[in-house]
Amino acid sequence: MQPIFDQRRYLIPFRLTLLPQIFTDTLVIGGGVAGLRAAVSAAEQGEVIVLTKAALSQTNTAWAQGGVAAVLREDDSIDAHVRDTLTAGAGLCDESAVRLVCEEGPARVRELFDWGMAVDRDASGEPDVGREGGHSASRIYHSGGDATGAEIGRVMEERVRSLATTRVFERCFALDLLTPGPEPGSPVLGAITHHPRYGLQVIWARSTILASGGAGVLYRETTNPAPATADGLAMAYRAGATLADMAFVQFHPTVLYLPGAPRSLISEAVRGEGAHLVDDSGFRFMTDVHELGELAPRDIVSTAIVNQIAKQGGRVWLDARRVDGFTTRFPGITRNLARFGLDPTRDLIPVHPAAHYFIGGVRTDANGRTDVPGLWAVGESASTGLHGANRLASNSLLEGLVLGERAGRDAGRNSNGNGRPGPVPIVSDIPISEHGELDVSDVRSSVRSAMWRNVGVTRTGAKLKDVRDMFDFWARYSLDKILDEPDGWETQNMLVVGALVARSAQWRAESRGCHRRDDAPESSDDFAVHDLWRRGNADPVLVPVDLGAPV
Ligand SMILES: Cc1cc2nc3c(=O)[nH]c(=O)nc-3n(C[C@H](O)[C@H](O)[C@H](O)COP(=O)(O)OP(=O)(O)OC[C@H]3O[C@@H](n4cnc5c(N)ncnc54)[C@H](O)[C@@H]3O)c2cc1C
Repeated sequence: MQPIFDQRRYLIPFRLTLLPQIFTDTLVIGGGVAGLRAAVSAAEQGEVIVLTKAALSQTNTAWAQGGVAAVLREDDSIDAHVRDTLTAGAGLCDESAVRLVCEEGPARVRELFDWGMAVDRDASGEPDVGREGGHSASRIYHSGGDATGAEIGRVMEERVRSLATTRVFERCFALDLLTPGPEPGSPVLGAITHHPRYGLQVIWARSTILASGGAGVLYRETTNPAPATADGLAMAYRAGATLADMAFVQFHPTVLYLPGAPRSLISEAVRGEGAHLVDDSGFRFMTDVHELGELAPRDIVSTAIVNQIAKQGGRVWLDARRVDGFTTRFPGITRNLARFGLDPTRDLIPVHPAAHYFIGGVRTDANGRTDVPGLWAVGESASTGLHGANRLASNSLLEGLVLGERAGRDAGRNSNGNGRPGPVPIVSDIPISEHGELDVSDVRSSVRSAMWRNVGVTRTGAKLKDVRDMFDFWARYSLDKILDEPDGWETQNMLVVGALVARSAQWRAESRGCHRRDDAPESSDDFAVHDLWRRGNADPVLVPVDLGAPV
């Protein structure tokens, strides 16, 4: 018996036919870097609709600060980028995926420059490159100092809006994928959507590309904007797609930590420019923890901050007063701190770790194909094997560009000019709970707190078991009455994906990359495999690294 919130809903024939019907060749769910890049390629072959559940500026992409990594200079090499990515990935990267992204990345980044990206330039007028933790060379291209994601989003949006064959539906929420039957593996034929003005609509598509981003909102503390509620992961899972490596959530060590303020990122580049982490007494604790001090890998800095707070009971601060030219190098961060009365040239900045990047995702091949016919996945919602057990800084925008282009091209081949997939029988799989209704906002905040406490920076088998019991308890109840509204669907999606992250983290009884178990502090060869999760299976299917995706 599957948990209530795992089940498909809305596949009710009479109700579907009463809704407005829209037809397209390719439906792209998500308007971040990956979705927009996919739309550009797919639009060369047919009609495209891009959905975003919020405004186009409300994406992880738009919030990216540091930059995009790519090898464009003679003094760097693809091999070095591959090596750095494999090292960060701690034995779980698929080398073929790493090589593909590093090799095709430079062309995708040059293309952005050609399309008008205002990349920061050095005194000689060449694109300026920065360096970030884990990179053996300076290869991070940035814009507006710390506004790279917003600039990439601007360029991509301009490009997509100039295409005659593409429509962008903003604030249009994909509730669930359309399939002809409830059984896993039925082809995906589009999505059911909800728009505040137009209500429910059915969008039929010959190809559907999930580009719905990450899952940071599963956690009480996160750098992600509000839309990152794991919708695409949950939709794909309900439709029978395989999810991979769900335990791996990257926590960023330094977000602004003020009661009531959004957890905005204080980029790693600030520590790269010389800022120190200190406790209440001014003690610089990172030098005792790692030879690289504040520039140690993110998981090590995050753990050290959590431990330091637990040890002394106070707070941890970023001392950026020593950083020359802070306000020019980091204008966005400076503006944001000023909103809360902080001046980084004078004040210490209170910081804390927060959930940042979701490494697990819908398993795909090198063209973004999932194992469900008609469904592709790209960007943060996908798992290509690039990041392994830990993501190298600035590789995710790059992955979105490379896989977006490939998936859009591949999915666009299904175009037939009129977008109509033909009539299909739709069956219903609606669960009826004998238990009562859950209070959606209460469940949502409980999930976020429980995930932070039990599936956060450091984990133990006991804490993971507790949170699994909690998910099992919630699974007996129904969210049915509120399922016409996005809020209910988001909560349902968070329950599905939160439960899978907890299951994967409990199964992975080792520490590797950004997954750290206090009760199993070493990594173990027994776990040097991908763990795959499919609807209907209680246990993961295990596959060796570099076997290639099962499609
Ligand atoms: C603060 C911050 C800083 C970062 N800095 C960097 C950096 O410097 N370099 C780097 O490489 N990476 C960085 N990252 C990570 C990177 O930004 C993201 O991984 C990447 O942008 C993800 O792109 P995406 O296209 O997959 O998803 P997103 O950009 O998150 O876009 C997701 C889209 O899906 C839509 N969506 C979601 N659910 C639904 C639904 N149900 N229906 C309809 N639409 C839906 C959303 O509205 C949105 O349009 C950073 C992330 C954050 C949060």
